[in-house]
Amino acid sequence: MITADDVGGVHVKYLYHCPRQLWLYARGFRPEHLNDAVQLGTAVHELSYSRFSPVDLGAATLDHLDNQLWVHEIKHSAKRREADHAQARHYCHQLVRIGVDVQGAVLHYRNPRKTERFPYTDDEHQKATEDIDRVLDIVAHAESPPRLGRTSCRGCSYLDYCWSQ
Ligand code: SF4
Repeated sequence: MITADDVGGVHVKYLYHCPRQLWLYARGFRPEHLNDAVQLGTAVHELSYSRFSPVDLGAATLDHLDNQLWVHEIKHSAKRREADHAQARHYCHQLVRIGVDVQGAVLHYRNPRKTERFPYTDDEHQKATEDIDRVLDIVAHAESPPRLGRTSCRGCSYLDYCWSQ
C-alpha cells in the first residue's frame, strides 16, 4: 500500500476526477497509454513547450520549474478543471517538503493559449495536505469506489474496464 511519500500528482488528479480511477491506478491498473487524449497531451508537451525541462520528484514529475521557483504545468484541454489546480498544488507541496521555497503554480492552457497563476499560500498548503490524506483513505479501502455516471466517464482511460463489467 502507498504511503504519503508515494502520493504523486496523478493520484491527486484522479482523486478530483474519480475516486474509482484513483483506486485502480494505485493498484497498478494503468491503461492511459491506450487513450488518445493522453497521447495528444504527450505530443503537445513535446512540440509546444520544448523549452520546459521536466523535474523528477520521485513520486511525481512536474513539467517545469522556473528560476523564480514557479511550477509550470501544461494542459492540452481547454476546460478549466479543479483537478489540474490540485495536481499543481501537490507539486508545490512536494517541493516545499524537500526545502524549495516555491512561489506557486502556473497552468498553461494551450487552447485558447492562456495561463492561470496560483500562489502557494498557507491555505493552499493546507488543502494539499488534506488531499494526500484523502488519497490514502480511498486507496486503503478493500473495495473499489462506485462508478461515476456514464456522462462523467467520457474520455476516461478506464472506460472499457468500468463499463464492460
Ligand atoms: S470510467 Fe468512469 S467510473 Fe471508471 S474510472 Fe473512469 S471516470 Fe471513474
